[in-house]
Amino acid sequence: MHLTAETRLNAILDGTGAGTWEYNLDTGEIIFNERWATMLGYTLEELSPLSFQTWEKLSHPTDIESANQALTAYLSGDAHQFECVVRMLHKDGDWRYIHTRGTLFNNDQTAESRWLMGTHLDVTREKLSQHQMEQLAKSLPGIIYTFVLEPGGRYFFSYLSEKTWDFYGLTAEECLDDPDKIFNLIHPDDLPRVHESIAVSAQTLDEWVCEYRVQTERGTYWLKGVSRPEKDADGRISWHGMTINIDTEKNLELELEQLSITDELTGLYNRRYMLRKLQESVAQGERYGDTFSLISLDIDFFKTINDSYGHPTGDAVLQRFADIIESRTRKSDIVARTGGEEFIIFMPNTGLSEAGHVAESLRIALQTESFVSDEGETFGTTFSAGVVNWSGAESQTTSVRDLLSACDQSMYAAKRAGRNRVVANGNGE
Ligand code: GH3
Ligand code: MG
Ligand code: MG
Repeated sequence: MHLTAETRLNAILDGTGAGTWEYNLDTGEIIFNERWATMLGYTLEELSPLSFQTWEKLSHPTDIESANQALTAYLSGDAHQFECVVRMLHKDGDWRYIHTRGTLFNNDQTAESRWLMGTHLDVTREKLSQHQMEQLAKSLPGIIYTFVLEPGGRYFFSYLSEKTWDFYGLTAEECLDDPDKIFNLIHPDDLPRVHESIAVSAQTLDEWVCEYRVQTERGTYWLKGVSRPEKDADGRISWHGMTINIDTEKNLELELEQLSITDELTGLYNRRYMLRKLQESVAQGERYGDTFSLISLDIDFFKTINDSYGHPTGDAVLQRFADIIESRTRKSDIVARTGGEEFIIFMPNTGLSEAGHVAESLRIALQTESFVSDEGETFGTTFSAGVVNWSGAESQTTSVRDLLSACDQSMYAAKRAGRNRVVANGNGE
């Protein structure tokens, strides 16, 4: 079947639901198709006589202005097409969003031949859902976004709500153009974890949940991202989700966590933390063959200090002793006050003799320290210590309880041997 070009064009236009318009820029003559009128609830006959004013009367005044600007931009060559969205009044009284496109058709150079021709498409439904989405995004407490990862590794945001500005001090538009503007704000200590969690979510297609800090001009604060991945047939993954600010909650959580592992009097770690650290280190040591040493210290005749100079002076001794230990151990060592006048030092990657030397230097430091009571009396004190070593490669003692007990046994051996001494691995007995 042979169809004329006109028949085919009309069929295509019918299919798209587009209204057509032709406007002679020189004479003002205007032509609309029937669909152009039905889109607004009219017949062409009802709108006759047709003129430029027919369009003007039905269009929203604000949008007429922007349509004129779009036309000027197109005619002056600044835009490659005449394109704008104009609100037009439907016969039923509602405004419809009409997507208007046109190009100049200039068949010959004679006067009165500049015809602007184009289409009208009703995009009200799309506009309304876009509007609803924007309103929804404004009322939510976070940024909503879609993040896309392509099989080749390219990534970008295909949508970011306006709150991007409140969170990052960056506009959504600039981050759509360059996703690294956001990634560059993530705290360097947290960035590897963010990347890793995205990779895991891409692999498992499980929900992505991550808490991380960002450093912006407004300061450093904690954010939490939650989003659901979706993989399309081409292997492209899109995460749809939200980023919220959790700074207050997170700082409170960290503060509580810190409090729960800190000894109030000395500021050292407490027994709970030391046990946790030991459990982790034993588990890790069994896998990788690491070694560490433990020193258990107990102040000698501490009860006498309390009895002679008062409890507050006893407290001051404990605090001073904590400072002495901290100043004589490495940053990687962990020092805890595990009981009233009992302390444990955990020394990673440290052999028995090295740990023994540290204990011995501490013993001399405390022995030579002089304390003054509230009443002005000067006194000194000493401690007894036990030292043990643990090596994952040899796995002599596997349970933390046994290990602590062995360390205490050495310390008690030191007490029995006369106090103010260090016993390493019970060999002083
Ligand atoms: P030993 O040489 O055998 O270790 O004797 P000691 O007196 O040090 O040991 P004992 O276990 O008999 O006494 C420990 C004392 O530590 C008893 C307790 O009142 C005191 N103590 C425990 N916690 C604190 C504290 O927080 N502050 C003060 N000032 N004293 C404490
Ligand atoms: Mg004790
Ligand atoms: Mg004691």
